[in-house]
Amino acid sequence: MAKDWDSVVKRNGQCSKCEKSFEEHQEYYACLKETQEGFERYEYCPDCWDDKFREESFSFWKARVPGREEKKKLLVDNEILIEFFKRLTESDDESKQGFIFVLALILMRKRILKYLNTKTTDDGKEIWIMKLSKEDKEYHIVNPHLDDQQIEQIREGLGNILAGD
Ligand SMILES: [Zn+2]
Repeated sequence: MAKDWDSVVKRNGQCSKCEKSFEEHQEYYACLKETQEGFERYEYCPDCWDDKFREESFSFWKARVPGREEKKKLLVDNEILIEFFKRLTESDDESKQGFIFVLALILMRKRILKYLNTKTTDDGKEIWIMKLSKEDKEYHIVNPHLDDQQIEQIREGLGNILAGD
């Protein structure tokens, strides 16, 4: 079943290494590291970002500090969502199924991911067969049968680690 994703590091507006504060509009690297409790988000200024952090990351991307006048973005760029989705689907870890499924729902709503059909495995799991609109590869997503509250909780967790809210 889905993990509790509350344990993620919240944005604190500074580099996780040199601890220098980020400035408005500054570009930085955001990365997710996998821990026992789930994913943790770290942010690094371009000067500190190096191959070591890249290798330690489950997923990483370039982000930018929003200006004070800018409306807070509701969610991150589609490319980041797609990359994270692909990376997650490479994992066999059952604890990620909730995450993958909710991310799939978000991508479907954005018409980036297409639902093709459903099959049932021998051990009774419901698998959704899906395809990204720009690719031919099929993705097989387990339907973890989450209730509305669980979906909402995971959606919030996704917002936390991806957008740093
Ligand atoms: Zn730094």
